[in-house]
Amino acid sequence: MQEHSALTQPDTFIEHYERKIHSQKQLIELSKALNSNLDLRSLIDSILNISIAQSRCLQAGIYLVPEIDHHGLVLDENFVGFEVADPSAFAIPYKSDIVKLLSEYPTLLTLSEIKNIAAATEHSSLAQVSYTAAITQFSKLNAELLLVPLKAKGRINGILVMGPKSDGETYLAEEKAFLSDLASLAAIAVENARLYELATVDMMTKLKIHHFFQTRLREEIENSRDTGEPVCLLLTDIDHFKKFNDTYGHQIGDLVLKEVAKVLINTAKGKDVAARYGGEEFALIAPARNIESARAIAEKYREKIEKLSVKNPSNKGEKTLKVTVSVGVAMFNPETDSENKHLIERADQALYAAKHGGRNRVEVKA
Ligand code: GH3
Ligand code: MG
Ligand code: MG
Repeated sequence: MQEHSALTQPDTFIEHYERKIHSQKQLIELSKALNSNLDLRSLIDSILNISIAQSRCLQAGIYLVPEIDHHGLVLDENFVGFEVADPSAFAIPYKSDIVKLLSEYPTLLTLSEIKNIAAATEHSSLAQVSYTAAITQFSKLNAELLLVPLKAKGRINGILVMGPKSDGETYLAEEKAFLSDLASLAAIAVENARLYELATVDMMTKLKIHHFFQTRLREEIENSRDTGEPVCLLLTDIDHFKKFNDTYGHQIGDLVLKEVAKVLINTAKGKDVAARYGGEEFALIAPARNIESARAIAEKYREKIEKLSVKNPSNKGEKTLKVTVSVGVAMFNPETDSENKHLIERADQALYAAKHGGRNRVEVKA
């Protein structure tokens, strides 16, 4: 009613449609940006930044299905403004009333609206518990949340949760409509990024898989040949890794692998690609680095692993496990290297030298 009377004023009428056109244009730009981004991390960042900027609120987060067999939606660690120590504790079962409600309800709902619906609806005692638990959990983020479901292929694959607007006003219908459109685009982009991740990432270590490594290395070598920019390769292997498997069992071996991989992922910067070459042998493609800068990053990685203490969950042996790695470094040479395997061979020779030189060290093969 209020909106209708406001539209009778010519200026407001024009302003209203100008705003609409502006928001449509923004959606087109957003669609381009979101759909060209296959990196889930930076995609989530973009979705949150856009929603916050549009809604002028100070808090936002996104619940996603973390892995292929997971039965729920979990708060992603890239949230903004919430006071949360452990986002993985914020999980909503997929088969809960709240997810069902969000997937069926025609408009966006705030947490207090959901509370009212839950109170007014006839439910089995079991279903009520499911509502209550989810509402209590969402309320820990903020009791005034607006919940925006992400729907792709008729299924909810995420929930965007928005804090109250910073001016204290409630969300306007047009703001909700914008968020709803944004969520439709975000849902498809998240789905694409998820499929891409499943196809290119080793689920255990989160490192890129071997095939992806070979493809990216080929691209970087071609780029280096075209532009003259250097590209280096680090091959790394865990020292005496077999002893972890033999002493504590394969599961502890896997745990060590995951911890070491995490360090490599955090060591990678910019265009670097951290990959699982095979087994407990990892690789880092380091574009735009000369041999000295590649040696420095290898040394930094070696030191970080040396300082790492992996908690030993078994009741056998030491409480923390000490790990070291050997690293071989080589730089692409357009005179001698025509394929990936030539550069890999030299990095491997350097790694072999590091092992024979006593392990826990970095060797370079020019
Ligand atoms: P070195 O210092 O010479 O590298 O000694 P090492 O014991 O690490 O020897 P090597 O690299 O040959 O051993 C690799 C072992 O890693 C053998 C294999 O069983 C184990 N391994 C490979 N992939 C996995 C995995 O995914 N999980 C576990 N737990 N072990 C793995
Ligand atoms: Mg090995
Ligand atoms: Mg080894």
